[in-house]
Amino acid sequence: MATCEMCGRTGDIVTAEIESVDLKVCMTCAKHGTIKKRSVGSNPSLHSSRPPIKEVPEFSIVPHYAALIHAARESKKMTQEDFAKFLQEKENLVAKWEQGTLKPNLDTAKKIGKVLNINLIEKEEMSDSSPVRSKKQDEFTLGDFVKIRKRN
Ligand SMILES: [Zn+2]
Repeated sequence: MATCEMCGRTGDIVTAEIESVDLKVCMTCAKHGTIKKRSVGSNPSLHSSRPPIKEVPEFSIVPHYAALIHAARESKKMTQEDFAKFLQEKENLVAKWEQGTLKPNLDTAKKIGKVLNINLIEKEEMSDSSPVRSKKQDEFTLGDFVKIRKRN
């Protein structure tokens, strides 16, 4: 009998990804994560759950990443070399980040953030949305305005 790796219950066990770890868990615990496959029986409609809707908020590296990385690394008393090794990156890359001449990519920024306990990623301001909104207002013609006034 399979046992849930989270709560120890036995019974219908599925493989679920919970906090990016694959665990064999019961259906109740599986709700905390994403069910990958049922190890007992097979019901395609159950485990082929729709892929997570990719939200489009764009993430970008904070503008002051260079200073952040530099300060956080120093406070951890790591040399650029240590830090590079830790990240399995090239030392000259670290130097470039700290000089602000090269932006780490998002994945690397996440790694750096974890190691140094800082946040290098920000949600890009949807600055595009305001021009769109004002454009709509422009499309609101005088004719529309008159119609609304008549209706009132
Ligand atoms: Zn469980």
